[in-house]
Amino acid sequence: MDIKLINKTPAIENLIAFAGMAYIEADIDLQVTAWNQGAEDLFGYSEKDSLGSFLYKLIPMDKETLIHCEKAQIQSISHVNYQGKKIQCEITYAPIINLKAQKIGIALLATDVSNKLKKDDDLEQQKQYIEEIYGYAPIGIYHVKLDGKITMANSEYAWMLGYESSDAVLNKITDFPIQVFFDQEKSEEFMFNIFEADQIVRFRCRLKRKNNSYLWALCYAKTTRNELGRIDGFNGFSIDISTTVRTEQALKEANEKLKLISMIDGLTQIPNRRKFDEYLESEWNRHVREKTPLSVILCDIDFFKYYNDTYGHQAGDECLKKVARTIHDSSYRSSDLSARYGGEEFVVILPNTNFKSAKIIAERIRTSVKNLKIEHSSSRVNKYVTLSLGITTIIPGLDNSAESMIALADKAMYEAKKNGRNQSIGKHIENT
Ligand code: GH3
Ligand code: MG
Ligand code: MG
Repeated sequence: MDIKLINKTPAIENLIAFAGMAYIEADIDLQVTAWNQGAEDLFGYSEKDSLGSFLYKLIPMDKETLIHCEKAQIQSISHVNYQGKKIQCEITYAPIINLKAQKIGIALLATDVSNKLKKDDDLEQQKQYIEEIYGYAPIGIYHVKLDGKITMANSEYAWMLGYESSDAVLNKITDFPIQVFFDQEKSEEFMFNIFEADQIVRFRCRLKRKNNSYLWALCYAKTTRNELGRIDGFNGFSIDISTTVRTEQALKEANEKLKLISMIDGLTQIPNRRKFDEYLESEWNRHVREKTPLSVILCDIDFFKYYNDTYGHQAGDECLKKVARTIHDSSYRSSDLSARYGGEEFVVILPNTNFKSAKIIAERIRTSVKNLKIEHSSSRVNKYVTLSLGITTIIPGLDNSAESMIALADKAMYEAKKNGRNQSIGKHIENT
């Protein structure tokens, strides 16, 4: 006899006694001859109760199958244990053969596979759940490999891109960066961000549809890694935001229109006081930096109250419109700005203009308005509508301000009034 085997027997017996699995032996009549702790735990009967009992009465196995067992076999059975809990176990059984090659009984090993089955069940359920989300999600979900091939795409993504099915996306899109982006530079930026930054990329761009039209989409992407931890592609999520973008654009256009309207004087259709204030501030700051002369001309219609009194308010309005247009047309540079300062007063900003040039423009305005020959019978200076103008030229700096410049122009204008009206008077700092 093999000595090693003899030595092994007690070890195997020990293992059987303490193994987590059930070990059962029965004789040729199927009466139990061995029943370990594992069998007690699994089937609920103690060793004492089991020894001598018929095996098929203790475990839910067919008597005939056990009698005719000639070689090792595996069977899965379901059984309700003594606690009323349904248990799934896997039983391996084999005949016990003596040295004369006669079958003298049967041995069984049984393990509780309920937990494993439950895990498999849970996994299957999770898989179905994910597939359901993936299939019905109202956002495009896809996976792209390093070589630019799409390996997975849900039906929403196919629909977004104008393909009839997910399979069509997989078959026809073989170069993601080229085929999916409408703007090439966006494609490069996206691919750079995803692979260089290796974090969730949040990206707004235009996606190219199958028919070469586009849709606006918000795209999220995150790299995926293989089992070696190397980046092997990315998962992408895209949301169609075309409606939002269209609304935003319409809103932006409406706002721009509104802003433009809010900067125009309703009566004369030339820029209003708000536009003047804004423009003066920005030009002032620019001139502070550039240290160049900035000029303004304030224009006030002479005896306009009398004009209204004589010809009526409506005629007064018509006169204001003509004067405004004439003032507006008397300066030529695109950076010049004429505005209605309020009432019958107008103002002209002349960037990068010295006093001499400003004086020429002021006189041009004065002459042009007079030459309109708008009759003004109650004026005390002329038979036509005339202007008095105050000019100021300053090199803006930290020791003066836009307000002081306007105050100076106002002073000059009142001097022109005092001096007899229908004239321009300038106040300027030397060297301008
Ligand atoms: P001065 O030569 O000193 O400037 O005399 P003036 O009459 O022009 O000055 P005053 O400030 O006394 O009167 C300005 C007038 O301008 C009074 C007002 O009725 C008129 N006015 C202001 N805005 C408008 C407007 O929008 N339409 C009309 N028709 N008149 C206006
Ligand atoms: Mg006035
Ligand atoms: Mg006036």
